Amino acid sequence: MLALGIKQNMLIKNKKVQLSEIFTSIEGEGIFFGTKTMFIRMAGCHLKCYWCDTDYALSMNSGKCYSINEVKKMIKKKLTKNTYKINFTGGEPLIQYDIVKDLARFVKEEIGLRTYLESSCYDFNRFGEVLPYFDICKIEFKMKDSNVVEKKYYSNLLKNEMECLKMAINSNKITFVKIVVSKYSNFDEFKELIDNIFHTVCAQSLAGFIIQPTTKIDEPTVDSLLKFYDLVYPKYNDVRIIPQLHKVIGAS
Ligand code: SF4
Repeated sequence: MLALGIKQNMLIKNKKVQLSEIFTSIEGEGIFFGTKTMFIRMAGCHLKCYWCDTDYALSMNSGKCYSINEVKKMIKKKLTKNTYKINFTGGEPLIQYDIVKDLARFVKEEIGLRTYLESSCYDFNRFGEVLPYFDICKIEFKMKDSNVVEKKYYSNLLKNEMECLKMAINSNKITFVKIVVSKYSNFDEFKELIDNIFHTVCAQSLAGFIIQPTTKIDEPTVDSLLKFYDLVYPKYNDVRIIPQLHKVIGAS
């Protein structure tokens, strides 16, 4: 994290963006799956989900370094018609939160498109900084089997995720929850998490609840997916099990 921090401070100071890629494709996850979307993939993530499918973007040195104006020009140039929204994803967008704030403001105010934040919600202070510039928030809760952080840091991550959920809802953002499950995900842990979520926020304030099975790596069985579903349904009956569409259809 130290190396990431130094690099990140340099980028902010020099108004530079470490960008993995910008591309347009089909939204493959969450409640807007199937929509044409532009993705801005920021470089860098200090977390360690073992099923991460963007390992090429985890290093702070991945991708290329641009000025903010170069990225803004790139967004304008690459934008194609009928694009539903622009996703800020990663990597982890909150690592370069100051830059993300600037770019999201540009997308909203100068391009007039919806902005969507896909973050691991690891830091609610940074989340609060960027939140005013986003319309849609996916709040992802990581299960312990993801190995996202060392066990001793897990409760802190959970606390940040929960705080981000509250902040997004209190700011009237379109907010949905996503939880990735693998064949190693634990039902008791999942139930405790669900109880915690619906103790914290009211079900009516959520725009969706997605259970996402891992794809091509330790996939859960259909029976276990239905068990996870049954744990959410009594609290939120519009819960959906949705695999990653882009992998099914071979999109990027
Ligand atoms: S938080 Fe996202 S980008 Fe970071 S390791 Fe996990 S899945 Fe990959």
